[in-house]
Amino acid sequence: MMETGFNIPDNHPRAASMRIRERLIEGEERSVVTKAGLFAHGRGEAFDYLIGEASMPAALSAARAAAASLLLASHPVISVNGNVAALVPEAAVELSQLSGAPLEVNLFYRTRKRELAVRDALLTAGATAVLGLGPKTATIPELFSERRIVDPEGIYKADVVVVPLEDGDRTEALKRIGKFVITIDLNPLSRTAQTADITIVDNITRAIPNIVGAIRALRPCGAGTQRSVARGFDNRRNLSEALIFIRDRLTALAGGRG
Ligand code: ATP
Repeated sequence: MMETGFNIPDNHPRAASMRIRERLIEGEERSVVTKAGLFAHGRGEAFDYLIGEASMPAALSAARAAAASLLLASHPVISVNGNVAALVPEAAVELSQLSGAPLEVNLFYRTRKRELAVRDALLTAGATAVLGLGPKTATIPELFSERRIVDPEGIYKADVVVVPLEDGDRTEALKRIGKFVITIDLNPLSRTAQTADITIVDNITRAIPNIVGAIRALRPCGAGTQRSVARGFDNRRNLSEALIFIRDRLTALAGGRG
């Protein structure tokens, strides 16, 4: 068990992973992250260990396709939950500013206190506006509880939505109402990963900077190139490549006895 609030030495072999945990624990103390969010992180971490804690080639291709789709979108939106706000607030704000996609607070366990805590994390990171908090709301049909609520100016009218670390029910509901869904999920087998249009199988701490880099590279290329990148992407094939990468890595680690 790790303790909280102690200095992680730079030369510790698990330093990066422990710092990420620290951010989530601090986020939980500020009501940004829920206890369920800590469990979700643990599941993600296990997959990151299998991947080798670096972006796979398949994740780089998916990030490039995500960048192209965001550049081509009319109303892109980035959904932010507690783990996203605790882990990558600055990167989420940078992606929002670069892509023109507003940030929308989207909580599985929604309380006013948490909404405001997530909003404050984004404002502290430099956001100038945050959707999903106003008195005006729209709802996604067929979804129950607070997860139905979406902002009429945000996800409700969006054509492309980035929903990192999302649960399967909500992703399926977003697909049913016709959204083009981009997700970031370390588990290539989750329902969200399997349902989305573009799944970046990577840690969000690496995936968002990768999308930002790809937007910078693709923007000057123009809409023709962006369209061919977006059309040339096949999520099924990309998920297969991710699973094959993990299989091959495990085979190599097992001494080649696959
Ligand atoms: P589903 O309902 O889609 O089948 P689930 O029940 O596992 O999946 P949740 O726990 O709601 O879904 O979502 C969390 C997802 O986010 C998990 O698939 C987990 O692997 C992934 N995840 C957690 N932390 C990270 C992270 N830092 N970067 C990327 N993905 C992560």
